[in-house]
Amino acid sequence: MSAPNARFTVAVYPGDGIGVEIMEATRRVVAAAQEAVGGFALDMTAYACGAGNYRDTGEEISEADFEAGRAADAILLGAIGLPSVRKPDGTEIAPHLRMRAEFGLYAGVRPVKLYPNVPTPLKDARAQNIDLIILRESTEGLFASVGKGVVIDDREAREQLVITRSVTERLTDQAIGLARGRKANGAKGLVTCVDKANVFAAYAFFRKVFNERMDLATDLNRSHAYVDAAALDLVRKPWEFDVMVMENMFGDILSDLAAGLVGGMGMAPCAELGDEHGLFQPAHGTAPDIAGQGIANPSAMLVSAAMMLNWLAAKHDAPAMATAGRGLERALEIGFENGSVRPYDLGGDTGTEATANAVLAALPQALDEVK
Ligand code: ATP
Repeated sequence: MSAPNARFTVAVYPGDGIGVEIMEATRRVVAAAQEAVGGFALDMTAYACGAGNYRDTGEEISEADFEAGRAADAILLGAIGLPSVRKPDGTEIAPHLRMRAEFGLYAGVRPVKLYPNVPTPLKDARAQNIDLIILRESTEGLFASVGKGVVIDDREAREQLVITRSVTERLTDQAIGLARGRKANGAKGLVTCVDKANVFAAYAFFRKVFNERMDLATDLNRSHAYVDAAALDLVRKPWEFDVMVMENMFGDILSDLAAGLVGGMGMAPCAELGDEHGLFQPAHGTAPDIAGQGIANPSAMLVSAAMMLNWLAAKHDAPAMATAGRGLERALEIGFENGSVRPYDLGGDTGTEATANAVLAALPQALDEVK
């Protein structure tokens, strides 16, 4: 167990657009959870990073501020990018993609959970039980080709997909760890491999390596789904899934589809994990259409921060931090339950600050419940 009052450093990159607004709200809630639970300390230092910084300084992020992320115990990131700011070659400002690559963040953990009173497009009553994880590989797959695609003589374009044994093994092990943790709390203990192994050698290899690792996890069940069938079943019966593991591009697409079942991007948290580093951010972007109005839904960012506390707690054997993480997530759930959390994107009227205040108000009850 870590020493009482252990200190952890968190590099905070609010970023652009609504990233800045939801980060402010999240820092308040995290600080309140830390203070209420005690037994650990967080040094949360903010660094400039993103499209606004590029416009103002010519740099997406300074080397020193990038290295602060590497040195920190965890990284908390809002959202990056502004439509009006592009590099000379037309590409977007994306320092978080460099973080993903350099910090080896191969495991994108995307919880998909329907909170009470949040509208879902599914009419089936079982939709109330949607609670699954999409584990998106985040450093290779089709995205290994980013920046390397070629257009030949304006006649043909090519990209190359990469699957490695090393990453697939560790990704599957992450899926196994997630499924075990969830099973301990009553989930099915089911890991589903999503691929297109019937058509492509690379996906057949992905499935083969997945099966080899799963052979070692005899306490869990496994299933396989081709990605097209998985898309269908995510709409038809998402409550049957537990942990779904897949290649980068498939995860990119299916995680947005799944977010659409549980309230949209404002409800889509994400943890990007490697063997050493962890970066926590909502899956949504900077939402330029609503930025500056104080109406962004901070839920995805709050749950991402809760995931950060839980991950730090497990890594450093610091149970107090896990109490804070579970308490934060439960406080949000209580807010949805009792109707004090009603974000605008879900048809409600609580802005970013009011939503955070409602979560703060629910925190004492939540901490009582999870302790
Ligand atoms: P990116 O390519 O960076 O993901 P995007 O424009 O495709 O950006 P988002 O920025 O995620 O996607 O926005 C998609 C839609 O979802 C927008 O209409 C936006 O207003 C809405 N949205 C995203 N996040 C939130 C949020 N936290 N609260 C409310 N609405 C949101």
